[in-house]
Amino acid sequence: MTEYKIEINLSSSRKQKPSFDSLEFGKNFTDHMFIVDYTRGIGWHDPRIVPYQPLTLDPACMVFHYGQTVFEGLKAYLTQEEEVLLFRPEKNMERLNRSNDRLCIPQIDEDLALSALKQLINVDREWIPNAPGTSLYIRPFVIATEPYLGVAPSGRYKFIIILSPVGAYYKEGINPVKIAVERQYVRAAIGGTGNAKTAGNYAGSLKAQEVAEKAGYSQVLWLDSKENHYIEEVGSMNIFFKINGEVVTPALNGSILEGVTRDSIIQLLKHWNVPVTERKISIDEIYQAQKDGILEEVFGTGTAAVISPVGEFFWQNEKLVVNGGKTGELSKKLYDTLTGIQLGTVPDPFGWTVKVEQQEGSKYTHNR
Ligand SMILES: *Cc1c(COP(=O)(O)O)cnc(C)c1O
Repeated sequence: MTEYKIEINLSSSRKQKPSFDSLEFGKNFTDHMFIVDYTRGIGWHDPRIVPYQPLTLDPACMVFHYGQTVFEGLKAYLTQEEEVLLFRPEKNMERLNRSNDRLCIPQIDEDLALSALKQLINVDREWIPNAPGTSLYIRPFVIATEPYLGVAPSGRYKFIIILSPVGAYYKEGINPVKIAVERQYVRAAIGGTGNAKTAGNYAGSLKAQEVAEKAGYSQVLWLDSKENHYIEEVGSMNIFFKINGEVVTPALNGSILEGVTRDSIIQLLKHWNVPVTERKISIDEIYQAQKDGILEEVFGTGTAAVISPVGEFFWQNEKLVVNGGKTGELSKKLYDTLTGIQLGTVPDPFGWTVKVEQQEGSKYTHNR
């Protein structure tokens, strides 16, 4: 039995909190962070909560050169009863370890990670915004810290969790986005790292995003790398289509990131007896469905926006409008239900939310 003692070193000064009703995504960080180190031959050691601060790293650290790094993204919500709720956090820790495995990063004890997260949230509890639609965004990540220029898995790592209060994603109601089908660049290939949350996938996607934005589109629709024909994801979200009463989403194929929101949407639809299928979907099929007038709704899913309706897509010099450019009924219902469950205002039949108990912050010792 291993015993973890998470040391807590509280900051002697507290930062000025930003105004919670005009928060920009990912720009403000709380007073503390969690760190645990890994050293080959020892394992993960010295878990600690410390004041939020810059890292001092050797410029030869492997993360800077070969991108051996993974991350996660989830949120904590403050309920009307001042309770703090996490949404399926164990799914994120499982996925973190799947990403770790793909990047040759050693596995992290998921219970330690979750316990550390809860304690960190308690330390910075006052940073959870309470304005409607706001939340505390949680960014766990791992970096390779061995100073070595050889291409090989690092012998040292840091697993860090930082917290950022974020504003409402939709300030003026849900706005459908316009997307461009990407023909030149691909996000991920079969056998590559598409199903791992690793930095390289995002660095590689910036170019297509930049080109699309210049043309007036807010996201790109990614097609598969082999045939450039099957739909994979939209931006860094999973994608769903409602065609003639049936909901379809691309089946997981190794290059698609397995979203927690995606899984939750599929489970909700099944619970409502709405037909939902995971399968290959070609861009031609979507084009034809739009032409036939049976493409009823299109939406992206992810932690940040939860549901992001698509009002128009650009494909082969044609602008194809979906649902008159408006948010569909099912998209809205899914958004309201999922955000309601996350906030504790709608019943949670799946047991998805996890309460962060106030005393968790004083339970400094974690037993396994
Ligand atoms: C994180 C991510 C998603 C969405 O995952 P959630 O767990 O729902 O937030 C989808 N696609 C990509 C590429 C991602 O990085």
